[in-house]
Amino acid sequence: MQTRIRLFSFAGIPLYVHGMLLWCLGLLSVFLLVSSDDLGAVGWTLVGAALTLICVAIHEVGHALAARALGVEVYDVVLHVMFGMTRMEPPGSARREIAIGCAGPLANLACAAALYPLVKDGTDWGHEVPHSPLSVAFAVNLVLGGLNLIPAFPMDGGRLMRAFLSLHVGDRHATRIAVVLGRVIAVGMIMSPIALGFVAWSLAIPIVGFLILFLGEAEWRRLLVVDEARRVGKFLDLQAELRDRAGTGSSVEAAPEPPSDQPSN
Ligand SMILES: [Zn+2]
Repeated sequence: MQTRIRLFSFAGIPLYVHGMLLWCLGLLSVFLLVSSDDLGAVGWTLVGAALTLICVAIHEVGHALAARALGVEVYDVVLHVMFGMTRMEPPGSARREIAIGCAGPLANLACAAALYPLVKDGTDWGHEVPHSPLSVAFAVNLVLGGLNLIPAFPMDGGRLMRAFLSLHVGDRHATRIAVVLGRVIAVGMIMSPIALGFVAWSLAIPIVGFLILFLGEAEWRRLLVVDEARRVGKFLDLQAELRDRAGTGSSVEAAPEPPSDQPSN
């Protein structure tokens, strides 16, 4: 489903909700109302889902505003099922990528820090489920900020690691290392319930693992296309330069071959 609904704009950047997310929220509401007699628990689940969406939006707004402040054009922000996405032009340098990558988790951790004085003296702690929207928001921000710093590409931690590595080993090798490490961590997360004894909360970890595998593969394919386009562009520029040097507009005798060191999967 490609439908998306525009919620609002900030700093000229539109924020959308993907149609699939709305469908999932609707189905979750119906399922909970049909399957449970405890309206209080149903209400808390839906409040938790809404607060999670708000926290994901805060995360993406952090990325988008950092990018905008660094002069990187931001196209839009889209909230998908289980993740958000800020679409922007390539940052252009590792240092910009690091700054933009840090901004999302830092936005969540800053929110958690701001909420901490309001929830630390509450009666929620010690309960298995938080009993106020503020404590839910605190917990979600803390988890989102921390989880995204795991060095599993394409999560922010993986992107930060790739940017740091690219300063030393080049962009292509850094991406390759980050993708492989991301896959290893994702497989570890998928297998983790075995080591954790299949306790209830551990069953959510493989979902994140599968998400990392799926998004990592998509991002890896996109980077291959961008890399190829960049090298074809350089090849065409070089051809044009040689043609200009020949000064006649005739065909170039010894046209260079395009670079062949395309990363393979
Ligand atoms: Zn992020």
